[in-house]
This record gives sequence, structure tokens and C-alpha cells, in this order.
Amino acid sequence: MTLTRDEARERSQIVRPEHYDIELDLDRGPREFASTTRLTFTAQNGASTFADLDPVSLESAMLNGRKLPVSALEGRRLHLTDLAEHNELVVTATMRYGRDGQGLHRAEDPADGEAYVYGHLFMDAAPRVYACFDQPDLKAPYDVTVRAPGGWIVVANGAMREVEPGLWRAETTKPLATYFVTVCAGTFATVTDEHDGIRLGIHARASLRDHLEAQAPEMLTVTKQSFDHYHSLFGIRYPFGEYHQVFVPEFNAGAMENPGCVTFRDQLVFTGAAGRTEHLVRANTISHEMAHMWFGDLVTMQWWDDLWLNESFAEYMANRTLEAATEFDDAWVDVAASRKAWGYAAERSPSTHPVAGAPADDTDTALQNFDGISYAKGSAVLRQLIHHIGDDAFVAGVRAHLERHAFANATLADFLEALSQAAGRDLTEWAQAWLETAGMDTLRIEHDGDNVGETASPRLVITPDPDRPATRVHTVRVAAYDQAGAEVAADDLHGVSGRVKLPNIAAATGGESVALVVPDAGDLTWAGVAFDDASLEAMAGALPGIDDATTRAMIWTALAHGLARAEVAPEQILAIAEAALPAETQMPVLDVATSLALGAVVGRFLPWSERPAALAGLADLAERMLAEADGEHDPRTLAGARLLAGTGDAGRLTPWFRGEDLPAGLDGDTPFRWRVARRLAQLDAVTIDDLDEALAADNTMSGRLGYLTARASFPDAATKVWAWEELTAAPSEDSPAHSNYEMNALASGFWSADDEATLAPYVERYVSDIPRMREWVGEDALARVASLAFPAALASEELDVEVRRMLDQQLPASVRRSVVDAHATMREVIASRAVFAR
Ligand SMILES: [Zn+2]
Repeated sequence: MTLTRDEARERSQIVRPEHYDIELDLDRGPREFASTTRLTFTAQNGASTFADLDPVSLESAMLNGRKLPVSALEGRRLHLTDLAEHNELVVTATMRYGRDGQGLHRAEDPADGEAYVYGHLFMDAAPRVYACFDQPDLKAPYDVTVRAPGGWIVVANGAMREVEPGLWRAETTKPLATYFVTVCAGTFATVTDEHDGIRLGIHARASLRDHLEAQAPEMLTVTKQSFDHYHSLFGIRYPFGEYHQVFVPEFNAGAMENPGCVTFRDQLVFTGAAGRTEHLVRANTISHEMAHMWFGDLVTMQWWDDLWLNESFAEYMANRTLEAATEFDDAWVDVAASRKAWGYAAERSPSTHPVAGAPADDTDTALQNFDGISYAKGSAVLRQLIHHIGDDAFVAGVRAHLERHAFANATLADFLEALSQAAGRDLTEWAQAWLETAGMDTLRIEHDGDNVGETASPRLVITPDPDRPATRVHTVRVAAYDQAGAEVAADDLHGVSGRVKLPNIAAATGGESVALVVPDAGDLTWAGVAFDDASLEAMAGALPGIDDATTRAMIWTALAHGLARAEVAPEQILAIAEAALPAETQMPVLDVATSLALGAVVGRFLPWSERPAALAGLADLAERMLAEADGEHDPRTLAGARLLAGTGDAGRLTPWFRGEDLPAGLDGDTPFRWRVARRLAQLDAVTIDDLDEALAADNTMSGRLGYLTARASFPDAATKVWAWEELTAAPSEDSPAHSNYEMNALASGFWSADDEATLAPYVERYVSDIPRMREWVGEDALARVASLAFPAALASEELDVEVRRMLDQQLPASVRRSVVDAHATMREVIASRAVFAR
């Protein structure tokens, strides 16, 4: 039973936590740990409420010196009755380590057998670690003590000191929300530094030490530059003491903003070739979590329905900071290329919701709204807000908001009030249209002739979603290009809606020079872009010549949107990729374009019969990119190699698997080798023995995951029987559950085969087996499994019937949301095939 908003509201009327004292004993073997919580709190005299606790066994619970009966714990709730004005609750319990990335997750590193433990308590997993009032508006300071095996290092929100061998004690924290509390423990490799009086630590598994030490300077530089930038922007110093960044195994999300002790997925410590996109994403994640120290941690939302504001703000602030204060001044290119595409896909799904004010009656529902709308749309909308009220007013409003609610909680209304005051204008209407109404406008260019060059009166037409009407005012830049992609004219438009004249472009269109008009050049707004036919026709020729990388990225995102809406044919995407990519030199653009061509067009939109020919075309494209590339530091080398590794020529890939003739920079790159292994397994061009041998040579966490994906990818029926059983079997005493990452690896490999017939029986298995996994997999992890294991490769009307039947059943919230979204994507495939007559 998850906490409802009404229950949270009621409880915060009754109790106010004063202080948590938590002792954890992590030296009790691989399955369980001991937890003692001493919680002092005030309450209404005589009132009753409950604390949250999810133990294996409750050893004892004492309230104000009296022992509570065992029956006081019902499900995850420990009932507390007859409260006094001042109370002390002492709970001793045995808890289970998580394998699903939630609670106190424990993982063993096969490289050296070392174990690692970290707390991920977002959103409602705190009761898996300690007894608490688990809701974001009941903050208190924490004292944390940890007993850990010898040789371990322990890091937590407050600065940790080893007070006696194996016993670690943290400094008292500032008031924290329950979901921010974390402990990370294990034989971490550590790099320390200091900046502006703040002690900095970066930690990762011991087996990653060399990579960590080599990459720490880049990470620390971004950290320091972000601190300086936020200090001057917000006018409030970082308030949580030391700042540790811990790269932990099998992490569900990108990172988590625990004050003073941020956890990151440890793939962000690169073990193979990493392109500009990977470096940008890591820098972005570092800066994003730092923005949360103020927005989210210092000021926390009252209830989960305003969680979006944390994420929208941090997403926006990280990119702003990277551009202004670091070497990553191309941050917005990646936003246009990948984050926006993620958000537009979310907006197209029936699961879309307003940025703000989406109902979150309980924590499970709130988790489902934590998506591309909260991050990508919210950030884009904040950018539009800044155009609307001016940057000075925005910054002044943010400062006032942070000062007013420091170490406490706030709502959207509080935030808008601070901005309104700073801007001296009412934002009700603006918020209604942009934040409180779902859906997006479509931008298209309208002109009188067949061809932009033939008309003197081109117009930008902004059309709202007919099902969700709203009048949104946009700041956009419309730019016109000639056949070779040189910019001919542009109109910068502020606060526009409806039909808008384009005087500069009109003046330029008298001649023949305009071939392509881009309605949102520079990617300033949030809208679906529909190209006119003439522009689409000219795209392959003009795109490579367009100077601005953000605009090229935005065009690819718009093409992906057009593909999904059956407005752009799959072949058109392939043709544009073939023309544009050999000349493309920006990694985020190459990444998004190759994954659109390979993953979306060939992997899903084209029917099975047409895939081999398309793959051969992409293999030629990859060879041309490799031929055009100028060595290891040219992004086309990595992008070309990755594209080729996804195509069908086993003869070309087998030497790469053996480590021969690899493109520059990929020698000894084990993650790349596993990518090749997976493709060869799909093609049935390696053996299980070959994979076993490769695993023996790379017996690491990432190696084992690469192995599982490749192993599940063989096309034969026996492999599918094995892989499905591995993925979905319930854990037992002898065989513990697969970890979240192992399940993801198996699911990612599963849906490949020589023909659809081998896979068809697993549609029914998906419908029956995946929801059942909720019994042992947390919502967050199961959502990912449900998405990755969805039979997207089999898109058809028959599958559609099965999926609709599934959606008629009772489903865990996470599974329902994943299936709704995957179903929406499948409907896009079916619609495209109908329009383009397949
Ligand atoms: Zn965030």
C-alpha cells in the first residue's frame, strides 16, 4: 500500500519529526542488514498515526519507553497510538538488501569479488532501510552510524569518519527529506579534492580505479565550475558540507541528488571509447544533481505532484550552466538531439499529462509522471518562461523562492508567486497554457505556391492540439536555407501565436534561393515541427550544409516526430541519413540520427521482409562514414563503427570480435566488443563457447551484462526458452533474483530471431509473466524491464489485440505505464505502414 496525498497531509498535521538517529550494521552477510532507528518527534497529545517500515523481521519497537506489540506492524505501517507532545520511537529491525536498485542495494563485482552497498530511497524506499515518516514535507536532521566490514569505506550525507575500526559515524546533517538519506559502502576507489572550502570526493568500485583516476579531473572541473556558477546565480552557498559523488553499480536512474552524497550509475565511469555525447551526458548529470542541492534539496516540493518542478529546473539549469561556465558549451545540441525527442514521444503517448498539476494521489502514481514531460518539456517551458518575463526577473524570482523556503517545502504556487513578484506581472494565464494543459502546438510553414521560393508571403502557423486547446505564446526563430544549407534569411519572433508573417524570409523568397524553411531553428520552443513538402524534398541536400549544430539536431528530432506521425516515410529518413551523415561531425547528432535509422526505421518501422536490404544500405553508409573520418578523434569513427556493428555483415564483424582490424581507438574496447558479440549472436555467427571465452577475458560487471544480452540474442528457439525463464523465474532460496541490470540485459537481447514465428509464443508469456514479477521486483526496476521486454519487434494488428487485452487486466502501475507507452509507439508503426502502403 503506498502513501496517499491525503494521508500525508493528515500525518503532517499530527506529527513533526525532530531528529533521526540511525544505526546500520552492514556486517551481517550478503542478504540482510540490521537497522536501529531512534526518532524523536512532536505530536498532538493523545493522537494516533503510523510510521513506515518494511523489514524482514521487526525485533522491537518502543514508543516512549513502552514496547509496542508485534501486531502494531501491519504491512509497511507501524501504528503509533496515544502520542505525547514529545515522543521517542526506537525501532530495531532486520532488513533485506535490494537487488532491484531500491532500498539498500547490494552488488558483488565479479572482477574482484568485492561487494558494494548503496542507498537509493527515492521515492518511497526509505522504510526498506529505517523507520520513518516517509513523506517529503517531514524533514529532520540525521545522525547516521554504520558498522561495516574491515577495509570498507563508508560515505553518507554528512561527512563520515571511522571512529573505531569498522565503525563509521557521520556529522549531523541539515534537515533532510526521508528520500534523500543515503549510505554508500564498500572498498571504493576514491579521488579527493577541495574547492572554495568544500571538500570533494569521487568514488567508484575498486576495479574501476584506473578509469576513475584518469577521468576524475574532467569531472572535478565541471563540479567546481558548477559550484562557482550556482553560488553566483543563486546567492546562497552550498549548504550541505562535503560533496561526494559516488558511482555505484546497477543504478536504476542516471543519478540521485542525495544532499552531500550524490549517487550515479557507474557506466558514467567509462571503460570503453566514449564520444562527445557520453562526456556531455556525464557533465550534464553532474551539473544537474548540483542544481538539485538548491532546488529539490534545500527547498523540497510539498508533495510528489510538484516533483516535476525539481526536474524541469535541474534539467534547464544544468544545460545553462554547462554552456555558460564549462567547456561543454554544446550542451543544447544534445538537448535538441535526444532529450527533446524523448519528451515529444512522451507527449504523443496517451499517457501524456500536464507538466504541472498532474494528479499524484499516491506515490506509485507520482512515479509514473516522472518522465520526458517532467524533464524535457518542463525545461523547454522554463526557457520559454524566461523569454516571456526576462532573465533578470527569472533569476530574482528563483533567489527569492530559495531564500523564502530554505530547509523547508514549497509548491508550484509558491514558485510562480516569487516569479510574478519579480517580473511584476501575473503569470496565471501563461501557466495555464504551458504548465497546466497537456499537449503541444504544431509549427508549420504555410505558403501559396508549391515551393517556398515561389511565394512572397510565407507564414508560420502555430496550431494547438485540437483535443487539448490552449493559447501558447512562443519565442521562436524561423530560418530559411538555400539548397546547400546556407542561411538565406531568418525571422526572430517573440511572444507569437496563431498565424505569423515572416517579413525577412518573405523578402528573400522572391528569387529561387530558398529551398528549406525550418520553423524552430535553434530549438527554442516546445512544439511539433512539420516540414512542408518542398523543405522535406530539399532536406537531404541542405541538411549537411546547415552551420548550426543545434538546428541540425532539432531537424533530426523533427524527422523522428514526423516518422512517428506517419508524415515522413521511413525511406526518407534513410535517404537523408545517407546524404547527411558522412559529412556530420557532431557526435550527439550522429548518435541520434544513426539510432533513428537503425533502431527505429529498420528495427521497428520497416516490415521484417524489408529489413535486410535496408541494413545493407546502412552498412554502406557506415563504411562511408569510416572512410570519411579522420582518425580516432573524428566522431564519425566511433559513430560509423557503432552503426556497422548493428548491421548484418558477419564477415565484416567477426575479425572485430577477435580484436583484429578495429577502427582507430577501439582496440581493447571491451564494451564495443560486446556490442559486436551481440550482433554476431543475433546472426548466429558466434557460438556459446566463443561468448564464454570472451566472458573469461572480461569477467567484469559490464562484461557479464554484455554476455547476458548476447547470450539471449541467439535466434534459435532453445535460446528463447532459456532466456525467458532466466528473465521471469521467481527467485528461491537457492537461486536469488537476477539484479535489475541482469534483467535489463536479458530483456534487451530477447526479441531477436530469424523469423517472427520463433518469437510469437512469447507475446502471451509477456502478458502473463511480466505483471507477476511485481511480487519480487520494485516498481522502478519493473518499469524498465516491462519496456525492454515489450515485443515491439512484432508490431502488428494481432499484437495490438493482445496488448489491448493486457491493458484490460489489473496491472501494476509501472507495467501499465510501460505497456501504454510501448503500445502507443507500436500504433505509430502500424499507422506508418498503412500510410506508406506496406
Ligand atoms: Zn534530477
